Amino acid sequence: NGLTVHELAQEIKEPETEVIKFLFFKGIATNINQTLDIPTARMVAEAFDIQVETAEAESEAKKTTEMIDEGDLENLKQRPPVVTIMGHVDHGKTSLLDAIREAKVASGEAGGITQHIGAYHVDVEHEGDNRQVVFLDTPGHEAFTAMRARGTRVTDIAVLVVAADDGVRPQTIEAISHAKAAQVPIVTAINKVDKETANPDRVKQELMEQGLVPEEWGGDSIMVPVSAITGENLDLLLEMLLLQAEVEDLHANPDRLAKGTVIEANLDKARGPVATLLVQNGTLKIGDSMVVGSVFGKVRAMLDDRLNRVEAASPSFAVEVLGLNDVPQAGDEFEVFKSEKEARAIADSRAIDQRQSRLQQAMASRRVTLNTLSAQAQEGELKELNILLKADVQGSVEAILASLQQLPQDEVQIRVLMAAPGEISETDVDLAAASGAVIIGFNTTLAPGAQQASDRLGVDIRDYDIIYKLLEDIEGAMEGLLEPEL
Ligand code: GDP
Repeated sequence: NGLTVHELAQEIKEPETEVIKFLFFKGIATNINQTLDIPTARMVAEAFDIQVETAEAESEAKKTTEMIDEGDLENLKQRPPVVTIMGHVDHGKTSLLDAIREAKVASGEAGGITQHIGAYHVDVEHEGDNRQVVFLDTPGHEAFTAMRARGTRVTDIAVLVVAADDGVRPQTIEAISHAKAAQVPIVTAINKVDKETANPDRVKQELMEQGLVPEEWGGDSIMVPVSAITGENLDLLLEMLLLQAEVEDLHANPDRLAKGTVIEANLDKARGPVATLLVQNGTLKIGDSMVVGSVFGKVRAMLDDRLNRVEAASPSFAVEVLGLNDVPQAGDEFEVFKSEKEARAIADSRAIDQRQSRLQQAMASRRVTLNTLSAQAQEGELKELNILLKADVQGSVEAILASLQQLPQDEVQIRVLMAAPGEISETDVDLAAASGAVIIGFNTTLAPGAQQASDRLGVDIRDYDIIYKLLEDIEGAMEGLLEPEL
């Protein structure tokens, strides 16, 4: 019951590459042969501005995440926003996460919270109500790109941290482009305003150049000047996150079996497999039988983010769960089933499927190198050349894009899935593998893990330091003239 990414793309008459790119950043699918359920397919269609004719079009609007089913619509309740922190290295992501936790979580709780479970929540007084904000405690956009695209989307809002004394830097731009691609709203924290050299207005100016226009200058982007060191405006930042959450209209149905995503998992010597699960719909309870990725589990004990033993966890909250048969992967989805028997059967069949699809994916992506593409072009089989471009600076990116546009594209079209300054990351490799793209690097380097990922997934990474040579190779590949590499 559903349709593959390939079928969906045909159905909505959008290029496969665009659809898989969208799904990739949502963390829903990594392969065009993956099957999507109907609500997900509809969500994709709508994201591409295609009106889907249904009787219940109105209630559709309430389905804010892929975790919500038809049956939940009657029972939707507001849920807290789940927030991830992104930004350039040293701009204060860790400091900000720590400062908010220290300011908002009473120090008596859980012995000052030295141990983290990968997420924490804070209580905020908002318009007379006691509300919560949940932070994913893993800085960087790993968590944000839905743990390398395995699980479903986990983030409702991205906090972009930009140091007021340093301004927009390559990873700032990368973070913005990732958030935009995934359609996750950004709230900017202009950090380190306590510093003498801080210049928040300059930061705003630079952010404008990236398409984020602050509210006070007539735009719709929320920007809050903060300091992780003095604690200035941390409350205001939380307020703004709740305001943004209201715009997003976040709901879930607490009265059903739980579903969600693995935030972290590891093997504890004393306790066995331990996983931090983010509940995204339903309520998770002790004794529940679940499937996590392809692992079976029966919830034996749960600790909340303040390390208290709890009996249940409601939507948007994270809990550490004991009782799994094996260690799942971060980003895997979990789902509770009515009976233990059902859950076990599903876990078993998934384990088999997973092995098969890994094989398929490995085989499919082996083909994607500039040389094999060139061979396909020679056979007249190549219609599109998918490229992911990473360069040293924005200027190079623009120069290369402009030159690529000049190349004749009657036979083969160049499709640039992503072009950004910065190093080539593991996420880039994942995206390239998912969409059959080659990665073109210009004066840039590989992030840790990217090489292994490219070897594992068979993604071609081409490195250049002369634009002319880069263009020559791409043109050669398009014409089927590239000499086989020895
Ligand atoms: P991350 O790499 O983005 O996680 O950055 P960190 O949180 O590790 O912070 C990098 C450096 O900036 C550390 O030395 C922090 O003490 C410092 N820092 C972070 N926030 C502030 C701030 O608001 N004001 C000042 N003066 N320094 C800060």
